[in-house]
Parts: sequence; C-alpha cells; structure tokens
Amino acid sequence: MTDKTTPNPEFFDMLIVGAGFAGLYQLYKARQMGFKARVLEAGDGVGGTWFWNRYPGARCDVESLDYSYSFSNELQQEWDWSQRYAPQAEILSYINHVADKFGLREDIQLNTRVTAATFDNERGRWSVMTKGGEMLDCEYLVMATGCLSIPQIPRFKGLDDFKGKWYMSADWPKEGVDFGGKRVGLIGTGSSGVQMTPLIAAQAAHLTVFQRTANFSVPAQNEPLDRATLDEVKASYGKRRALGREAVTGQYLSANDKSALEVTPEERIAEFEYRWRGAGGGFRMLRAFSDLMRNPQANLYAAEFVRTKIRGIVKDPLTAELLCPKDDLPFGTKRLCVDTDYYETFNRENVALVDIKASPITEVIANGVRTQGKDYELDVLVFATGFDAMTGALMAIDIRGTSGVSLRDKWAAGPVTYLGIAISGFPNLFVIAGPGSPSVLSNMVHSIETHVDWLGEFLRHAHKKGARRIEATQASEEQWVRHVNDIANQTLYPVGNSWYLGGNMEGKPRVFMPYVAGVPAYRKKIEDVASKDYEGFVCE
Ligand code: FAD
Ligand code: NAP
Repeated sequence: MTDKTTPNPEFFDMLIVGAGFAGLYQLYKARQMGFKARVLEAGDGVGGTWFWNRYPGARCDVESLDYSYSFSNELQQEWDWSQRYAPQAEILSYINHVADKFGLREDIQLNTRVTAATFDNERGRWSVMTKGGEMLDCEYLVMATGCLSIPQIPRFKGLDDFKGKWYMSADWPKEGVDFGGKRVGLIGTGSSGVQMTPLIAAQAAHLTVFQRTANFSVPAQNEPLDRATLDEVKASYGKRRALGREAVTGQYLSANDKSALEVTPEERIAEFEYRWRGAGGGFRMLRAFSDLMRNPQANLYAAEFVRTKIRGIVKDPLTAELLCPKDDLPFGTKRLCVDTDYYETFNRENVALVDIKASPITEVIANGVRTQGKDYELDVLVFATGFDAMTGALMAIDIRGTSGVSLRDKWAAGPVTYLGIAISGFPNLFVIAGPGSPSVLSNMVHSIETHVDWLGEFLRHAHKKGARRIEATQASEEQWVRHVNDIANQTLYPVGNSWYLGGNMEGKPRVFMPYVAGVPAYRKKIEDVASKDYEGFVCE
C-alpha cells in the first residue's frame, strides 16, 4: 500500500481503475510490456459485473465458450465450462482463476474507490485520488470501470420506512437471500429481472412482478456442456475465435444473410422457430435475418413472432397481453432478454404481474408497495432497476484533463470519444470498451481484448518514437462522433427507449452510445488508424 502521508505519491507507469474482465487483462498486458502497473478496485474482490451481480439466475447471454479470454491458449484449454451459458458463480470462479494463474493479485488494490484524477500538464502525469484519501501518480490512466457498474439506486418515497428487507440485483448479498415463505415484490423487467423471476417464484410464497415496460425475451436454450463438446471446441478453439472475430457481435454463431422480406412467410417462421427452439439466445435471434435492425417491416415480423409465442405460452390472456411489448419498442432496440422459463412462470398460481405504467408506484409503505390504484403487501422488495450505463462510472469520478477541463462538463450533452477509447483534452487516458465502440452490442470479452491489444501496440509504437504524451485531436473526435451517430441513425436502434441512449434515466442526455457497425467494421477502422501512424492522435 502507498503511504498516505507521503508527500511524493508513488508513481506507476500505468494505473488501471476496475478489476473486471477489462482491468485484469489490461494488468496482464501492462506487465508484459514491462510497466509498473496497479489496479484500483472499489469492491473487495475481482470480477466486476460478476462480483456484484449475484442475484438468482444471473448468467451470461453470450455463450461461455466465447464469453471468455482468448489471449491464453493454455487457459482456454484447461478451463471447462459446465453449461452453454455459465451461471454467475462459475464466471466469478473463472475470473478468480485468471487472477491466480497469472499472479495478478499482488498488483490489485481492492476496497479502493477512485474519486478524482487530474492531469498535470507540465509533468505529463495523472494524479489519482481515492476515497480513502490516497494519492497515486501515473503516466497512463486506463479506465476499466465498466459500462454497467453504477446501479440505479431506487429512489422510491418511503423506502426507508419499509419494514421488510430490500435488495438490488447489482449489489446482491454474498450470502444469498432466502425467499422461502416470503411475499416478494420485484421491480424491473429487464435482463436481470427476467433472469431472476423464475427462480424467485420457485422459492417464494408469492411473487408480484411490477412491470413498467414489457421487453422482448427469448429462450436461452441453456444446456450442460458435455466432455465431447468441450473436447471438440478445444481441438479447434483458434478457428472458433477467428470466426468470432469476423462476426458482427464478436462471437461464433450462425448469421443468416437473407432479408426477412425476401423469403416466404413459411420460411420466415421456420427461421425464427429454429432460433427460438433450437439455437436459442438473443444474439442468434437478432441474426435470424440481415435486416431485422434496419427494416421496420422485417423488425415487425420478429416482434410479431415473439408476441405470438407469449400469447401461446401465457394462459391468462390479460397477463399475456401485458407481457407483449408494444409497437413503440421495436424488437431488439432494448437489449433482448434471454431467459429460461420467464413467460411460463406467469402461469404459476403464486405469481402476479402488475402494470405500473397504467398505475405507477406512488410510494413504498411500511408493509409493501402502493400504486395509484392499490396497495400490495410484501415482505421483501427486489430492485432490478438497471444502471447509469456507459457513462455513469466515468462521470462519478472528477476527471480533469488539460487546463483543468472537466469530463463532466465535456460530456454534459452526452459522451464524445475518439474510437471509443480516447478523449480529446484528456491525454494518456484510455477507456476500455467505452461509448463510441462496439462495447455492449458485442461479446464484451472479445471487445475488451481488442481494445487492450490495440492500446498495447499503440503505446509500444509511441515509445519507439520517443513520444510520452498521446492525445486524440478534437477534429478526429468530432468526426468519429458524427460517424457513430450516422451509423446508428441508419438502424432502428435509436427508436426504442433504452439505456443504450440514456433513455432509462431522467435527465440523461439522449445520445446513442455504442458503435453499431459491428466488430469487424470497427476493427478495420482502428487498424486503419494504426496503419496511418495513428491518425487522429497527437503523439509527442
Ligand atoms: P465491470 O465488470 O463492470 O468491472 C468494472 C469494475 O470497475 C467494477 O468492479 C467496479 O467496482 C470498478 N469500478 C468502477 N468505478 C470505480 C472507481 N471509481 N474506483 C474503483 N473501481 C471502480 N456482456 C456480455 O458481453 N455478455 C454477457 O452475457 C453479459 N452479461 C451481463 C450480465 C449482467 C448481470 C451485467 C450487469 C452485465 C453483463 N454484460 C454482459 C456486460 C458486462 O458488464 C461485461 O461483459 C463485462 O463483464 C464488463 O467488464 P469490465 O471489466 O469492462 O467492467
Ligand atoms: P435494465 O435492462 O435497464 O432494466 C431495468 C428495469 O427496471 C426496466 O424494466 C425498467 O423499466 C425498470 N425500472 C427502472 N427504474 C424503474 C422505476 N423507477 N420504476 C419502475 N421500474 C423501473 O437493467 P438490467 O435488467 O439490470 O439490465 C441491464 C443490462 O445488463 C442488460 O441490458 C444487459 O446488457 C446486461 N445484463 C445481461 C444479462 C444477461 O442476460 N447476461 C443479465 C442482466 C443484465 P423501463 O424499461 O420502463 O425503464
């Protein structure tokens, strides 16, 4: 630990904020480059998303064989995933295994929240301040702070007076929660709420799901991975990873390159059915046809397919109708939920769905929840209300670049970056999988590796040239932001109200944040930049 009283803060070649998938790989890479590096992590363990989100049913929605590091063949050969979509505890074990295998822990400082970072123009260094008052200096500051790491804390009136216990999906107790015999109220029906609903319903005396907006959910078709499958994948893992690199979402899956409009109705249904019943998963469903996210009619076909499924599964017609997403939410414009038995759960006697769009929650009362129309008696409340996504973790830190310019001011109207990795006015600061990169629209582990690898090459290149200070120009940033917006506006993504565009939080600027052109197109852009002597950056 750095001595807090030292007048000269300890100096690092690189400080990395966050110990999730991104922070760990960045540390591994920094060490390979001979850097003195340290990770600062707010939590008391590594794992990021998978450390915090321990709610029942939490699991990945990108297959684990792809949602895992590819940088070490030894690692991918020795690790056996138990299921197609591994549960949270297994992903957390994997990340801990990575930390141990590569001896990363000695350079990870836990229980350390970074509160401020200031660039010293003269010395070309960042000064980083922690909540505990510690100061550390570094040449490069890498923000591996996550896109979904700042939960939206429920601000319901009366919550402090609630007599029961309440929990948040993104800050779930390590010891778990026993719902046995309890009347549980769940607020939030995004991916987290959808995953936990069947498990809570199976345990609780009664579950009331409070739904504001119905979202589309498709079956995961999760299954155990047997020895033969694992051996087969491992025998040609490189090939699978290479195919993933060339796929729009950075993962191995079958994409149909036909338009939904060029096939017969029977062929269209057959394709959707194959993805619903056989292939499973959200990303596979999104790739059922090439134009689902571009052509409103193609999108409507997918939406209608899912609505028909919901009406077929849910026996009570009123509940079924309430669960059907409405036309103002085009299919897939909000992250598709991926479930196991979500819709089926509403056929249970002990589960009720409440429409809080029609009758909003007015307050939490001592023994439950009050909506405009009715009181619901509850023993436990669960909030799966989402995140201050993509910008929240960065805006929570007082980051000041050249001439004291504040990131909070710079991003007041929405995030602007060059390539989703650098910010003009903030030299030597890099964001892993930040806004303006494929990030959350892709297999994140793949996109994290892409950024860390690219940045490693960039820093090597800069050092060779004797450059120590790297900064994106304002012109290149402006051009990139325009490009990101132009590409997004060619799709249906900005039509649906989602956290992708800040639409889940009151007052947040509405800007579509991820880069929708896909992983291969993005890689081509960043490789082009590199091949042109890192065009758009000033290195001196
Ligand atoms: P995180 O894992 O979010 O790690 C960031 C870390 O930074 C956290 O530990 C946080 O405590 C720390 N931190 C933040 N601010 C500070 C600070 N100021 N000081 C110190 N530490 C700080 N993506 C997929 O591609 N596929 C999936 O299946 C998938 N499933 C998901 C399921 C859930 C429940 C959630 C919430 C997200 C999921 N995601 C998924 C997205 C997921 O966030 C990424 O895949 C990935 O885990 C992100 O890794 P990361 O290291 O970038 O960020
Ligand atoms: P989310 O998708 O943003 O969903 C939040 C839910 O809470 C929405 O239903 C929202 O309703 C509701 N809500 C928010 N504030 C509310 C309020 N004040 N009153 C009533 N309802 C409120 O959040 P999430 O489910 O945690 O998922 C976030 C992202 O994390 C996902 O999109 C995904 O990328 C990732 N994730 C992935 C998985 C996985 O399958 N692997 C699992 C969990 C999370 P509105 O829609 O009306 O705003």
